[in-house]
Amino acid sequence: MTQQTITLIGGGLVGALLAQLLAKRGFKVEVFEKRADPRLAGFIGGRSINLALAERGLQALRTAGLAGDVLQRAVMMRGRMVHPVSGTSGLQRYGVDDSEVIWSVSRGGLNMLLLDAAEAAGVTFHFGQGLATADLDARNITLIDDNGTQRQHDASVLIGADGAGSALRAAMNEYQPLGQRVEPLGHGYKELEIPPATGADHFAIEPHALHIWPRGGYMCIALPNTEGSFTVTLFLPAHGPHPSFDTLPDATAASAFFRQDFPDLLPLIPDFAADYDGHPVGSLSTLYLDRWHIDGRALLIGDAAHAIVPFHGQGMNCGFEDTVVLADLLAESGSDTADAFAEFQRIRKPNADAIAAMALENYIEMRDSVADPRYLAKRELGARLAERAPQHFMARYRMVTFTHLPYAYAFERGRAQDVLLEQLLRGSTNVEEVPLDAAVATLHATLPPLPPLR
Ligand code: FAD
Repeated sequence: MTQQTITLIGGGLVGALLAQLLAKRGFKVEVFEKRADPRLAGFIGGRSINLALAERGLQALRTAGLAGDVLQRAVMMRGRMVHPVSGTSGLQRYGVDDSEVIWSVSRGGLNMLLLDAAEAAGVTFHFGQGLATADLDARNITLIDDNGTQRQHDASVLIGADGAGSALRAAMNEYQPLGQRVEPLGHGYKELEIPPATGADHFAIEPHALHIWPRGGYMCIALPNTEGSFTVTLFLPAHGPHPSFDTLPDATAASAFFRQDFPDLLPLIPDFAADYDGHPVGSLSTLYLDRWHIDGRALLIGDAAHAIVPFHGQGMNCGFEDTVVLADLLAESGSDTADAFAEFQRIRKPNADAIAAMALENYIEMRDSVADPRYLAKRELGARLAERAPQHFMARYRMVTFTHLPYAYAFERGRAQDVLLEQLLRGSTNVEEVPLDAAVATLHATLPPLPPLR
């Protein structure tokens, strides 16, 4: 039997992992990546940009045999360290113990590790080759290099892992409308850096936490890097009244704002002016598509199919979960890629829609509610119910972050649990006023048990 060839566009996080999984399942895989090989060229100017890896992403990496290698290069984050404007910072643990933590990983380091693994599995990469157009009738693509030189390449089965601005998606959409809708968040982001501290402890602040400075309509977060630095991200409205990126166009305006709103953070960023003026403002949007594929010829995966806002730390995790589902479906389907692509969309789209909605909701939670007494009361009551009735109650964050329960299930169940918590608290912020035995009885009577966890 001849080996089926799959042409992948994009060798980023999702593309590189998918390529390895497909090669291990016997496919011949070719990847065209617009950028130069980061292992030779250095990743994004050497800046440390990191991401939170959670259970779903880890599970996909286990399937690829790479989880151990990745965790060796990761920093454990046990919970959220919340920094109010004044007063003391406190750690809100994510789980009951260190079995429920998330991991801060370097985006560049992870990408390079995945590229090495894919190459070792037999994948061929063509770097510096961006997709320009795709002729889906002729099953042919046009690639363009940095010098503007174009070349043609046959591609009977195409998969687009080329990110939120996917060129394959544009070509597919032109061929047959995909029902595309892009909803801008209206907020942008900028990355800053806390450098390693001098002395025995390399970290200037608690290393094993995701730090949040919630300020209502905006916030900063910081994730640790193995070498002791932290990547700080400022999230702020893009336009409009102060504070927005419009009203903070440069480091002079921004440092005055930070002195007032983030007084404990500013002194930790010695190169604030260079970081602020040198780093671009990133934009954030949610991408919705009605269709992810054109019969068996072309399919979108990862951010190319469902880019989401980053506030649940799940974009990559969701894309990694995608890769395992797709690799399994393609391996089972033989040469019937149309069936596999349709089934992939059927399984994954409701879940992508659910995590898109939860990621948007989580922005409000992170920038605002983590300091809100009503939110904290619900969280505390939820924790008590989960302890007393673990088969019936699990915080939504925990379902999303530490289990493999489908996102769509976590979304629905989270809604139902939230309604119940509101009813039990009746507007109070004092959990002690809620009789726990009666609350557990109501929970049992209202909601079915949770599904078994794998
Ligand atoms: P990308 O990572 O965008 O990779 C696409 C690849 O395709 C790139 O290598 C690109 O060069 C290549 N490419 C683009 N166009 C072409 C072309 N025409 N031809 C060939 N190649 C092309 N997710 C998490 O799980 N946890 C987090 O903590 C987290 N934090 C985030 C923070 C921020 C500020 C942002 C913006 C996102 C965050 N995400 C996080 C989301 C995560 O970054 C994405 O979901 C993830 O990178 C998607 O991977 P991907 O491979 O689909 O796309």
